[in-house]
Amino acid sequence: MPEGDTVWRAARDLNRALHGKELTRCDIRVPKFATVDFTGRTVRDVVARGKHLLIRVEEEWSIHSHLKMEGLWHVYPKGGKWRRPAFKARCILETETSTIVGFELGFLRIIPQAEEDDAVGYLGPDLLGPDWNAEEALRRLRADPARPVGLALLDQRNLAGIGNVYRCELCFLAGEHPLTPVGEVKNLPRMVELAHRLLEVNKGRSTRVTTGSMLRDPLWVYGRTDRGCLRCGTRVVRSELGDNELEQRVLYHCPHCQPARDTA
Ligand SMILES: [Zn+2]
Repeated sequence: MPEGDTVWRAARDLNRALHGKELTRCDIRVPKFATVDFTGRTVRDVVARGKHLLIRVEEEWSIHSHLKMEGLWHVYPKGGKWRRPAFKARCILETETSTIVGFELGFLRIIPQAEEDDAVGYLGPDLLGPDWNAEEALRRLRADPARPVGLALLDQRNLAGIGNVYRCELCFLAGEHPLTPVGEVKNLPRMVELAHRLLEVNKGRSTRVTTGSMLRDPLWVYGRTDRGCLRCGTRVVRSELGDNELEQRVLYHCPHCQPARDTA
C-alpha cells in the first residue's frame, strides 16, 4: 500500500529520469486533462509532499498525482516493455531515453504551480520532507486530544506520510490501543519520533520493515490475523477505524500488547 516512503521513492526515481529533461511525449489519460500536452517542455523537478507527487513542468505547471490504493509510477528505458497493462496507464511521459508511466493513479490533475499551496498546503509537516518539524506535528496532533490516536496519525493535516500500515505498526510499537485518545497517549513525542525514523529507514528500500527483520517478519501486527502478534502470539484483531478510502479503515492490533484503556 503506498505510504510516504513509497511516494518518496517514486519522486526520487522520477527525478532521475525527468529532472532537467525535455519531454518528447506527453499523454494524459484523464478525460478532463486529455488535451494537455507538454511535449517540447522541460521538467524542472519532481517533489513528494506526504503522499502527493508533483511533477513540475518549467515554472508554470504541475502534474499533481496521488497514488491512493493501487497507483504506481514506473520508469522504463525508452521503448521498454511495460510491466502493467496499457489500459491502466493514466499518464505517459517520455524523454530521449526514458518512458515514465503512472498506472492506476487514484488522482491526477494539472494545476498551475502558483496553486500548489492550495493543493497541498493543508498538509502537516512532511515526515520525509526537508522541512520536517516534529514540534509542529505534535502541536497539530494535540489540538484534538479526544481523537483516537489511530485516526489522528492517519490525518495528513497533522503530519504527512503515514498510511495504514504505519499507523497500525506505530500504535503497536507504542503499546497503545488505536482507540486511545491522543491526549492519553503515554509518550506522544516518542511516537512521532518513531514515525519519522521508520519512514526514513524504509524510504530507500522496497520492503517496508518495522521489526528489523526484512526476511521473515517485516511487520508486528499489520495483516497478521492468521499468524498472531509477532511479539506474543496472541490472535491479532482486525477491525475498522477511519472514514476515508476503504482499505485505509482496516486496522490490526494485538489485544495483549495494546490493551484498551480502562474507561471506568
Ligand atoms: Zn502481542
